[in-house]
Amino acid sequence: PANTSDFNQQSLLDKDRKYLWHPMTPHNPDPMIVESGEGSWITDIEGKRYFDGMSGLWCVNVGHGREEIADAAAQQMKKLAYYPLTQSHPPAIQLSEKVNEWLGGGYRIFYSNSGTEANEVAFKIARQYHHQNGEPTRYKFISRHRSYHGNTMGALAATGQSQRKTKYEPLAMGFQHVAPPYCYRCPFGKTKDTCSMQCAQTYEDVINWEGAESVAAVILEPVITGGGVLVPPDGYLKKVRDICDKYGVLMILDEVICGFGRSGQQFGHHNYGVEPDIVTMAKGMTSAYSPLSATAVRAGMYETFMGSGADSHFRHINTFGGNPVSCVVALKNIEIMEREHLVERSAQLGKALRQKLEVLMAHPHVGEIRSFGFIAGIEMVEDKKSKLPAAADKMQQIISECKQRGLLIGKNGDTVVGFNNIITLCPPFVTSDEELEFIVRTLEEAFATLK
Ligand code: PLP
Repeated sequence: PANTSDFNQQSLLDKDRKYLWHPMTPHNPDPMIVESGEGSWITDIEGKRYFDGMSGLWCVNVGHGREEIADAAAQQMKKLAYYPLTQSHPPAIQLSEKVNEWLGGGYRIFYSNSGTEANEVAFKIARQYHHQNGEPTRYKFISRHRSYHGNTMGALAATGQSQRKTKYEPLAMGFQHVAPPYCYRCPFGKTKDTCSMQCAQTYEDVINWEGAESVAAVILEPVITGGGVLVPPDGYLKKVRDICDKYGVLMILDEVICGFGRSGQQFGHHNYGVEPDIVTMAKGMTSAYSPLSATAVRAGMYETFMGSGADSHFRHINTFGGNPVSCVVALKNIEIMEREHLVERSAQLGKALRQKLEVLMAHPHVGEIRSFGFIAGIEMVEDKKSKLPAAADKMQQIISECKQRGLLIGKNGDTVVGFNNIITLCPPFVTSDEELEFIVRTLEEAFATLK
């Protein structure tokens, strides 16, 4: 039933606790039961409203409750709910053209259902491409510590967060990690004045140590988002691109979060003037109204899969990828972003949020505030001088004080490495100026309880 008013709330809660296995249980001890959403707000079964400061899981870019998306989906479902992309259908064709336009042209689009899968597809395409391009020994991938690329054996192997991996290893083979660009705690001990961008140079070092002829690709987000909002120094992405070119290594950009306007541009890499070989996308592609992801591959690479040999094709098939309903949802979502100028709005909101958050720098437990487009990260410390990561209970206190006041925020940490101290924000693009004030005022009040 669409409406839970007929249900006894307690019985719903009891059944939830009895039958569902929620992600992160039991570290997520008291999941809310969310019943509806409108704009930047969600409402739970008790009727309490919360500002969705994380757009769900970094994804509801156009905000909740868009009826025109629901209508478009319903119409498509009546017309053609499903056909696999071993054949074709108009929504997938139109969406591929549109995504290409947003990327700047020159890509072929392969559809899947989640960001994780889009990355798995990228890995398989990269390896096969090298086979077909006369370099079959290239199989390794280089990613970064602190990155997150998904939850399957390959995408998790690319992920650089120990807490997500222990107990599931061994994962897929051939994944190496380099230190992330993390200027606040430079892994190379440099400061702004002494920075030589060793975080980018390290790619070249690892490629050489591994043997360039064994390296297939690098995978990275334009900015590490879920891993702590780590914004690289200017020129970083360009330097990584140059190193890739020098050694014949492919560049896969994971735009699962940064894409579709979140960065203040259509795609995150548009901020840095680089042209990736493969781009993966999901979340904001449909604003999460329906599952869909894509792996965009440079047209020249695609050509190597078009040979006449029996095994030249990409031998990868999935049932649901490019589902017509999801494609129509993505098209409507993109249409809304274009009509309401939401990419520009995201850029504006991001700048305004960053500026307003500055007030928190006066707090003794705020070490650094970072942002990229309409994403922000607040790094909490024990004290500004030692920069020791704040104890986890401090961040937890901020999260629960915000929740009590009707604001949901995100967090980053790694329980294995032993830090849990970065607050994240990723609100919908329909956030109003007043709501921006509400976010910052609420955070100020929450931090005031820590003094
Ligand atoms: N890549 C990045 C950068 C992500 O943040 C995520 C999910 O949070 C993924 C990939 C995996 O996406 P999904 O959860 O849709 O599989």
